[in-house]
Parts: sequence; C-alpha cells; structure tokens
Amino acid sequence: MKNHNHAPSCKQMLGNLSEFIDGDLQAELCSEIEEHLKNCKNCRIVVDTLKKTVELYEKCASEETNLPNDVRERLFKKLALDDLKKHQESS
Ligand SMILES: [Zn+2]
Repeated sequence: MKNHNHAPSCKQMLGNLSEFIDGDLQAELCSEIEEHLKNCKNCRIVVDTLKKTVELYEKCASEETNLPNDVRERLFKKLALDDLKKHQESS
C-alpha cells in the first residue's frame, strides 16, 4: 500500500526541520510541523532519528571539537533527506 500524497508537505517540513529541532522555529510553523507529525508516521520517524542524532552529535561536539554551523546544517539536511527517501522506498 503506497501513500505518497503527503510528500510535498513532508518536503516543506524537512526544510524547517533543523530549526524545529533546535527550537528556533516560529511558533506558527512549529505547530504546523507538530500537526503534520501527528498524521505522518514517516516524518515522525525522521524527526525522532534526527533528534537522537543531534543529541549524540551535540554530546560529541561539546566533548571534542566545535564544528562550524554549516557543517551541522549540512548534516541535518543530508540525514533528513536520506531518511525520508529510505522510508518512502520501503513503505
Ligand atoms: Zn510527512
């Protein structure tokens, strides 16, 4: 059973994901994302994975070196997109 109808809004959501996880996103957008997550299991998994990755990442970063912000941004985007693709392909 395939349900890719939500794909465009998933992409929108992922565009704001790093800010969402950092808590930097406007409240309005935050609640849109939370609303989307309630209805989209794929994105819940992606967000969950990202949150865990970020926690690990921040733990390592503070213990070892401080990576520049753009490295972090790229990591976020790459992870989000890879995860989304993976989950969509396997659904
Ligand atoms: Zn979604």
